[in-house]
Amino acid sequence: MPEMKLLGIPASDGIAIGPIFCYIPADLTIPVCPPGTVEAEMDRFEAARGQARTELQGLYESVHIRAGAEEAAIFEAHQVMLVDPTLEAKVREGVELGWTAEQALAKAIEELAAMLAGMGDELFAARSLDVKDVGRRLLRILLGLPDTALDAVTEPSIIVAEDLTPSDTARLDPQLTLGFITEQGGLTSHSAILARTLGLPAIVGMGDGLLEKVSSERSTVMDGRTGELIVSPKDETIARYKEVKQQRESHLKILRDAAEKDAHTANGRRVEVAANIGEVETARTAMENGAEGVGLLRTEFLYLEDTVPPNEEKQYAAYRAILEVMGQRPVIFRTLDIGGDKPPTYLPFPQEMNPFLGWRAIRISLAEPELFQTQLRAILRAALGHRGLIMFPMISDLDELRRAREVVERVKADLTRDSIPFAADVPVGIMVETPAAAVLVDVLAEASDFFSLGTNDLTQYTMAVDRGNSKVAGLFQPLHPSVLRLIKQTIDAAHSCSKWVGMCGELAGMPKAIPILLGLGLDEFSMSARAIPEAKHLIGALTDARAQQIAREVMSMSTAAEIERYMMEVLAKI
Ligand code: PEP
Ligand code: MG
Repeated sequence: MPEMKLLGIPASDGIAIGPIFCYIPADLTIPVCPPGTVEAEMDRFEAARGQARTELQGLYESVHIRAGAEEAAIFEAHQVMLVDPTLEAKVREGVELGWTAEQALAKAIEELAAMLAGMGDELFAARSLDVKDVGRRLLRILLGLPDTALDAVTEPSIIVAEDLTPSDTARLDPQLTLGFITEQGGLTSHSAILARTLGLPAIVGMGDGLLEKVSSERSTVMDGRTGELIVSPKDETIARYKEVKQQRESHLKILRDAAEKDAHTANGRRVEVAANIGEVETARTAMENGAEGVGLLRTEFLYLEDTVPPNEEKQYAAYRAILEVMGQRPVIFRTLDIGGDKPPTYLPFPQEMNPFLGWRAIRISLAEPELFQTQLRAILRAALGHRGLIMFPMISDLDELRRAREVVERVKADLTRDSIPFAADVPVGIMVETPAAAVLVDVLAEASDFFSLGTNDLTQYTMAVDRGNSKVAGLFQPLHPSVLRLIKQTIDAAHSCSKWVGMCGELAGMPKAIPILLGLGLDEFSMSARAIPEAKHLIGALTDARAQQIAREVMSMSTAAEIERYMMEVLAKI
């Protein structure tokens, strides 16, 4: 096949060279067809069990080698479920009624899972999901479909998918992932953010039909800085990209060494540069890249990786581990932000027409007090002796903020009553990510100790553009004058109430935005760890006067395109 170049939205810097793994969630619709004899259908079931056992054993072994016995144990448990006599008896019962093995299996799994889920116990509820998982594997095999689940990746590969949800990516092994490419998605879809956090190259919004074009490719090159995917590359193309990869890595090393120092503008004003992280591993990466704190800890990772919500002890241990890595640096715990494109499997989610405008973030926390209180207890306990801060997502109204703060106070009272030690002086702030919050900062300041601009959602909600929809990705413009006006308004209003303002949306780490934000007076920049060295370098190259002049110039412009063009010229001069 001749070399072919495809172009998408560059979402995370880096070059990857390797084979492609196509992730296609299998369509398990059972076709209508006449059954064979009872014995023939049972033989098919038996053969499917045999293949499932082999697949599960392969998964067990590969996970055992790279992640240890504990992580691999689930695949052992699945093998035990395969040989459950109740499952076999129920399948036989269906087949004897004249069904195909697929129909009998689907019915058997449904009944077994419902029985476990109905036992009202967390452990059995989790097992119910495992039974469904085993059932899907068997059904997929009976239908003659290949195993394309993400955990079937066994060699380092570039993952190509229509889209990747955070729950998909939570199960992905970073060691085996060279990069991501998705047909859908935009710059701030959560799979793109995750790629930046993990330092994996990513290209999103490649458009429909990509999976067909690349399905059988063994060799590919992707460049997450330019958005280029090269299918069937010539040897000289591979050699050229290997060289560019090396050059970029050594340049980054120079910047990274310089990033150990705290950030200051050229005239010496101190500006905080922090990291957005997801878990303890990324906290370590943040430290290596010169993070002065954590401006956004996305606590969702704990809620999406499992089939049950994490209990207080599990959260406490995870938060404590992160705080210990960060020492006395500030760590902002953003409370649970699920919903939107991040639905967990255990909460009954309504079918929503507009999930991003629906049951999400603080709305869920206020509706599920037990879930919220458990998280707040874990944060307050973990923060003792460290510098923890609490931040609520998606606030749009003062009453909502007051109610959330009341829960914090209630949790503190409970901990005091039970003589459980906790950090009593944790500042509580909010994300400014709805236009409602941005225009109401002076009012919200009554109950918020600080603010952090979430420009991913703020752009989505201001521009009425779904942040994950590649069809409208061109309209997702965080440097649009309307978004910039909201940012300026937020910073000015917060400062006049003597509150500090940070930014943890992706815009904070974009070189084209940093001079403007500096000029507007932003106090803290929080970004994916790997963006920190370049951001610090840029901040150090600008005086406040120059940044303010740039910001003034930009604020007088009428379109995002004009602003982007101007900023490219500014950056070229720096
Ligand atoms: C944001 O919306 O800008 C943000 C930082 O939060 P998230 O991307 O997790 O929604
Ligand atoms: Mg957000």
